[in-house]
Amino acid sequence: MAQLPKGHPSYSVVHEFCQSDVLEHWKLCCDRGELLDGLKRHFRVWVPLVFGNSHDSAKEEHLAEKYLFRPMTEFMCGGNPEEVFSQLKNVDTPSQICGHVFKPGEPTYSCRDCANDPTCVFCIDCFQNSSHKQHRYRMNTSGGNGYCDCGDTEAWKVEPFCSLHSSSMEQNDQVNPVDLLPVDLANRASALFLASLQYAIDLLMWKQCVQLPGGLDPEETVPDIHHCMLFNDEVHSYDQVITTLQRAVDCSQREAIDYATIVDREGRSIVKSGTEQECEKAKEIIERNTSRHNSKPLKVLVMHNVVVAHQSFALKLIQWLQNIISKSDGLRRLFCLLSMNAPPKKDLCDAMEIDDVDAPASLMERVLLADTQLWKVVRVKIHQLLMAGALMDQECKKLFAGMFTKCYEQLMKEFCLDDHDHDVSVMSLSVQMFTVPSLARWLITEYNLLHVILQSFLTACKQKKDKDGRLCFDRNDRSPSFKRASYMLYDIKYALLARPVDPEDWSDALRTNFLNGVVSLLELLRVMQGMDGVTRQTGQHLEFEPEWEGAFNLQLKLEDTLVLFTRWCSMDKVVLIEAYKETLEALYHSYETSKKEKGKCEVAGHTTKSMKYDVSNQPISIHLPLTRFLAALHLHLEKFDLTFHSPELMTKKRLDPVDLLEPPLRAQVMIAQTQAGMWRRNGFALLNQIFFYHNVRCRGEMYDRDILMLQIVASLLNPNDFIVHLLNKFNLLHWAKPEYDIPGGQEDSVRQTVMLAEEFLNLLIILLEERYIPGVGSVTQQDVIKREIVHQLCIMPMAHSELAKGLPVDPNSETGMEDVVNEVAEFKKPSSTGKGKYDLKPEYYKMYCPYFYHYTKAEQSKSEEAQRKRKKQAGESQALPPPVPPPLTSQFAAIVNILHCDVMFHIFKMVLTRTAAQRSRSWSEAQFERILYIIGIALHEQKRAFKEGNTSYDFLTKAMKEDGLLSKLQCLVGNQNLNQDPSRDLLAWSLKQFAEVCTLKSEPVCLETLHSLASCTDQKTETERKRKAEMAAKRRARVMAQISKMQRNFIAENSELFDQTSTELKTVTSDMDLGVMVPPTFPVALGPHRSQANVTGPIQATCILCQEEQEISCSGKAMVLAAFVQRSTVLSQSRGKMLDKKDDYDPLFVPVDLFTGTHVSSCGHVMHHDCWQRYFDNVMNKERRRPLRFRQSFSYDIDKMEYLCPLCEGLSNTVIPIVPSLPSLYPAGNKKEVDLRFDDWLDGIEKTVQNSIKEAQDKESEDDFSLFQPCPISTITRMMAESVAKNFQLLWEYVYDDASGHFSEGMREMLKKFARDVYAFGLSVEPDDESPRVSILAWSTCAFTIQSVEQNLRGEGKSLFGSIPTRQADLIGSLVRFAAVCSQVMNPDMVKQNCVRLLSALIPCDSEKVNKGSPCLLDLDMFHFLTIVTMTLPSLYVDQQHCIVNTLPTGDLNNQHAMQLVVTAHIVQILLTFAWDTEESMDVESDSEGEALLKIYLQLQKTAGLTPEKVPSPYQLLQYVRSAVMPFLRCAAILYFHITGVSPPDELHDHFCTKEYEVLCRYLSLPVNMSELFESVGDITTALIKSWCSSKSLRDRLSANSEKIVRYPIVKNDLVPLPVDYSELINKVSTFTCPKSKDSDDSRAPTMCLVCGQMLCSQSYCCQKDLEGSSVGAATEHAYFCGAGTGVFLRVRDCQILLLAGKTKGCFLAPPYLDNYGETDQGLRRGNPLHLCEERYSHLKKLWFTHAIPETIAHNLEFNSSFTTIEWQNL
Ligand SMILES: [Zn+2]
Ligand SMILES: [Zn+2]
Ligand SMILES: [Zn+2]
Ligand SMILES: [Zn+2]
Ligand SMILES: [Zn+2]
Ligand SMILES: [Zn+2]
Ligand SMILES: [Zn+2]
Repeated sequence: MAQLPKGHPSYSVVHEFCQSDVLEHWKLCCDRGELLDGLKRHFRVWVPLVFGNSHDSAKEEHLAEKYLFRPMTEFMCGGNPEEVFSQLKNVDTPSQICGHVFKPGEPTYSCRDCANDPTCVFCIDCFQNSSHKQHRYRMNTSGGNGYCDCGDTEAWKVEPFCSLHSSSMEQNDQVNPVDLLPVDLANRASALFLASLQYAIDLLMWKQCVQLPGGLDPEETVPDIHHCMLFNDEVHSYDQVITTLQRAVDCSQREAIDYATIVDREGRSIVKSGTEQECEKAKEIIERNTSRHNSKPLKVLVMHNVVVAHQSFALKLIQWLQNIISKSDGLRRLFCLLSMNAPPKKDLCDAMEIDDVDAPASLMERVLLADTQLWKVVRVKIHQLLMAGALMDQECKKLFAGMFTKCYEQLMKEFCLDDHDHDVSVMSLSVQMFTVPSLARWLITEYNLLHVILQSFLTACKQKKDKDGRLCFDRNDRSPSFKRASYMLYDIKYALLARPVDPEDWSDALRTNFLNGVVSLLELLRVMQGMDGVTRQTGQHLEFEPEWEGAFNLQLKLEDTLVLFTRWCSMDKVVLIEAYKETLEALYHSYETSKKEKGKCEVAGHTTKSMKYDVSNQPISIHLPLTRFLAALHLHLEKFDLTFHSPELMTKKRLDPVDLLEPPLRAQVMIAQTQAGMWRRNGFALLNQIFFYHNVRCRGEMYDRDILMLQIVASLLNPNDFIVHLLNKFNLLHWAKPEYDIPGGQEDSVRQTVMLAEEFLNLLIILLEERYIPGVGSVTQQDVIKREIVHQLCIMPMAHSELAKGLPVDPNSETGMEDVVNEVAEFKKPSSTGKGKYDLKPEYYKMYCPYFYHYTKAEQSKSEEAQRKRKKQAGESQALPPPVPPPLTSQFAAIVNILHCDVMFHIFKMVLTRTAAQRSRSWSEAQFERILYIIGIALHEQKRAFKEGNTSYDFLTKAMKEDGLLSKLQCLVGNQNLNQDPSRDLLAWSLKQFAEVCTLKSEPVCLETLHSLASCTDQKTETERKRKAEMAAKRRARVMAQISKMQRNFIAENSELFDQTSTELKTVTSDMDLGVMVPPTFPVALGPHRSQANVTGPIQATCILCQEEQEISCSGKAMVLAAFVQRSTVLSQSRGKMLDKKDDYDPLFVPVDLFTGTHVSSCGHVMHHDCWQRYFDNVMNKERRRPLRFRQSFSYDIDKMEYLCPLCEGLSNTVIPIVPSLPSLYPAGNKKEVDLRFDDWLDGIEKTVQNSIKEAQDKESEDDFSLFQPCPISTITRMMAESVAKNFQLLWEYVYDDASGHFSEGMREMLKKFARDVYAFGLSVEPDDESPRVSILAWSTCAFTIQSVEQNLRGEGKSLFGSIPTRQADLIGSLVRFAAVCSQVMNPDMVKQNCVRLLSALIPCDSEKVNKGSPCLLDLDMFHFLTIVTMTLPSLYVDQQHCIVNTLPTGDLNNQHAMQLVVTAHIVQILLTFAWDTEESMDVESDSEGEALLKIYLQLQKTAGLTPEKVPSPYQLLQYVRSAVMPFLRCAAILYFHITGVSPPDELHDHFCTKEYEVLCRYLSLPVNMSELFESVGDITTALIKSWCSSKSLRDRLSANSEKIVRYPIVKNDLVPLPVDYSELINKVSTFTCPKSKDSDDSRAPTMCLVCGQMLCSQSYCCQKDLEGSSVGAATEHAYFCGAGTGVFLRVRDCQILLLAGKTKGCFLAPPYLDNYGETDQGLRRGNPLHLCEERYSHLKKLWFTHAIPETIAHNLEFNSSFTTIEWQNL
């Protein structure tokens, strides 16, 4: 917040404070009934002192408590508040309801089995303690308004209480808790509540900026401090506000962001303080800057300090009141009643200084009505007060709800004009009242709630009407007020959610007022009827796409309301009758205007009068809510013994069934015409409308209802008339004439007619077959869902969410799927990570209808194909006949008459005649199939009629007439026109069906027919088919067997081909059998007795760019591997430690915590260096030509030299040169092996180091890196015994060689390039070839990468050499060889200097310079040390004169001794840091090695000045040390394998090698018995070890107050553990607040770093930070520190994984949490309980540990274009 200018006068405490005086005074005032005045007198002095002095918030709070709140509390209590409150607690009956008020993001749980509606929720505590945990529940996150419904008996069908709020306490509604309060307390509390609420409201609503309400003006003159107060609005963007502020009040960007954040969160913020003039100036600038582009300027007020102070206090007072009333139910009731009671008018008016004319009835009402005038934080606090007060008390809730309803229209009007979100509006409280069934019913009865809401909505609709009084939305009207008005549709839904179930629930008043609501609803539906009418466009395409979304949005929001209104109507006969009549009348009125004349239509001698309305050139609308509402009501008539013609339903103004038919039929015809391509010129708007009309979200109250209305009319009309009406509207009257088929005329329109005819028949099928609607057919709701599921699964097996998506939901958002799905389908789970799928049970396939009306055209053909395929495979007939439809209810029974009416028969015969005709222009197979399908339904009905003895339905007799339907069908058998199997099969099925029906009716005619049928239902074809199918199956099986046999042989013959792909390096095997030559001895890699390197032929590689093969050599063309170098913190043991001084960092001494390292990865693809260079240059040039704005957030960043591997598109940023194997580079003549004891070698080394340092010191060099030039070897040997000296010198016998060690220019260039890149990327610095650090980085990268590989193998329990993938082995080999040869291309002086300096860390010397530079032994990573010493030691005494000398490490004695030195130091590290924490020492075997080791251990500890508390047993110590040293040995084995080429022993390929330790020691020629490294090794060694232990730096480090010491064995890092139940995480983040905000505001996108577990406030301005010159979000910033730029996060509220790499790249991945169906839920949309999937999480862990995140991101960016638009740096 703003600070006062320095030196500004401020209020000083000049007033004496004496609490007892204050209380005494208040008591007097109170007795006189003037407490408010008394309080004001106190506030006018103390409020400015406390709140007007810019104290920090803690101090302010303290002062406020002392001078203001404490006195008030004590006054009320009349004694010690703590005592009084605890007494009150004793008589308190705690609210039955938990009432926990949710914070945004807090988890909520709704029981899908027991909740009355989905708004009923539990908080996590209640849920965990309830029985609903075992039910089907839904988890969600709260939007931040609402409270826990635990204990509300109306919210839950059963078990409304959790065990915390158990119902054992009998609630006694009769006792008024106020009566239990002591009388005097109640009196004082009443006065205080009224006065303080009055004061708070007055101040918060105060509109003046420099004056205070009467009685509050300060006594003395006050300093001129003004504040510039900036208010929130939804017009200006965050960025606009920030830039404006920077200009207007001259602040930094950071400060501006902070102001903007406060404004956004709290609704206002002080942005400047100073004199009135200064503030006015700032205000002017802000207003000027934000009023451009005709927008309203930002609201700014210049307010006096005292006004602001009083307002701050008033806000705190609201909170205080909430706190006080939660102390006891008596106080709460008292407060609520007082605030809702109308006070004596005079007092209030005086206090408010207004005329008493518009004085509102009560304080509470004033609060409600003031809502939109208050700023955000005030609103929120007041709503919280309401929730804790009026809404917690059942009695008061009712009163409050009444008041709320009374004000509803006014409140809504203001809400629509307001610009704050719904959740900070008082309107958001409606859900708390309207969803309570008893309350809603009471509000409808007493306050006409439905009418009130709907009328308010209709008022809002007025602005949207066109000249005909219809709703009409304008795409260009951006005013949000109508959108806001649609919140009312939720309110109406809430109010209707619980319908009255008992007849007693209905009172006459409820009926009357409910019907009032129906009338209002009809009014609304009437203005919607006929919206967005469209006329077919001919000639020109439509110029503008008409607006259509508004109408559909409204329809969508109204959907549930329509369902609920219908439900209510269906519960009571009186209501149903009245509602039906009202709807009929409303329809009549809406219809009058469009009434048209009728014309005569004739088909097959049947004449009827039909409406003249040509769908193809007159306006058509698919918004017909009135008609549909009538259809919905009609379904329930039968229940009350009513029909359309019942006298109860007669009204004068009603329409004929023919008129009712018209609107939905027109819509069907329009859609049919669209199918036939007649509406192509009407553009996408129409297609979208039709799409949504059929879509699962809308169809329930649109398409389905239209079909229902057609069925209703079909059941009411003469069937012949009905079909003629249909034909007329489809414009098919001419088609229905036999002469239509005579050739001639326009072929084009014929095609159209044929398609329309198909659609017409399709509609008939739907009308006859779709009976799965309770009320139409005798079915239950469950049957309906089952049928939907069956048809979904007939398309294909589906996952749970997929299936659910295709099903309609009820107003409680339930599909009802779980109840039935297991009956019809089987859930198959393929694996623990994949999603399971539902497979339809075979017996349900017979329910399949190919013409199912909810299929889209695509689904229809897909399902048909799937079903035919299934049947074909089973060798069954391919006919897809109609299933037996359920019986119709009596109301709809007449529909079947269509099937045997004359006109229908006419159509049957006509189509069959055309089928049989030689040539027919209007025939199509689709028509024929549909006709057969309808006949199939007719036969099903015939069977049913026979069974029921219903003789009025007689399809059969009519069909069997001479030259009738049946004979026509029989004639078609074998007809040439039917060449498709499916239609032939369907024909056969139909005839068989006829035969069955004939058997049922055992009349002679039938038997005769039966006989003739048998001859033509081709039994032969049937058996023939079966035979064929069986043969086909056998053939298939034979072929499959053959193929798999061939495959097996192929693999066996070409096994190498399957092991390696051609792009990897491959060794050319020579013909010689090498196995014979290698003696079967144990391989040793180091020292004079080392084994022979495996002789390998020259290695060949194929360039992936030019496809040429190339031999790998150092003199030929250089070959390179695509590689990616990144800085890594994956192995860090000090998470969060930063590489901050990059330019001064000394990488030589790598700390053992490995807090930073450089990692190299490669896809393993090989190229010529020049081929690569050309490719890379190309990429660069192409990218540079791209405009800048497209370059960002691409999958690779050319500024960082990134490119994608040309073969696999793997992310790369450099290349590694491939060096041939090192032994091939040694000079031919074998070097003579030297014999030199370790102790003597050490002596020489020590002398070298000490002397070199001394010399350097003498020279007084000023170099930062304390570079020591080694002294000449002669200096050293002179100091040695002669025999020793000779051998020592022999170690450095250099071979001057000018052939084999000579690198080609290309190779040198690539070696340098890779070294440069590793340096620049590894340290994030500018490249600098001259830096001595370049070569160090090359070595340490090699070490780090090996360590990371080793840890990964160890973590996965894999063997060291058995399971490294080839490409990784190639990479490590290349890296090691590169590190070994890079000394050849570096400045030899630097190599030598690095060597001496490195050794100086282990060699004691007196130089101050060294002590300053080199770290403590305990902090050195020994594997890095080993790697560097191995690579540099051979160069130690190289003579500068000769440049071509071989200084490659060979694994000779020199290397062996270096290894011994490093291992010794490492074991010292291990023994000194050994912490004994196991309790009992259980000595199983006495062990001499262990005992020796224990002795050494104690000796070392003593030397280091330590006294171990507990002494381990020798065996345990030995086991411990072995396990601790193992990682080092494993890394060393990898290193030396690649240096020497000596194959590691077979045991190291074995996953379960028990002797790994011994094997490693022998391979590395180390003593297996560790104690040998310490005992009898010579004086020099012993002295060295002693000097390590006794050094001061080590002792300091071991002292208790030093930083954390890394202990061994180093534990492999892993991502943080996650809880099994996802809701635990949601709960955890709900208590997480933005670390930047003062008042601990919630964070909008809490995001957890999975590397270190820290929670961050991501994607929010409040936590943006400046990072290297640009502003970034919290996650990006954290990744920079925690993961060297790379991060793995879990976005908790969205339930998704976020990966980040660098500032600009990132991607989202599916979370490792799955529901019971094996599916993830990104965004928590479905709300199913989620549990951790270990396998998925392991996969993510591996991704992180193997440094594959940048790569993964690049891939995702490449394949998901939506990721490229996200500004990752802001997350
Ligand atoms: Zn609760
Ligand atoms: Zn509870
Ligand atoms: Zn339950
Ligand atoms: Zn090439
Ligand atoms: Zn590749
Ligand atoms: Zn934040
Ligand atoms: Zn972290």
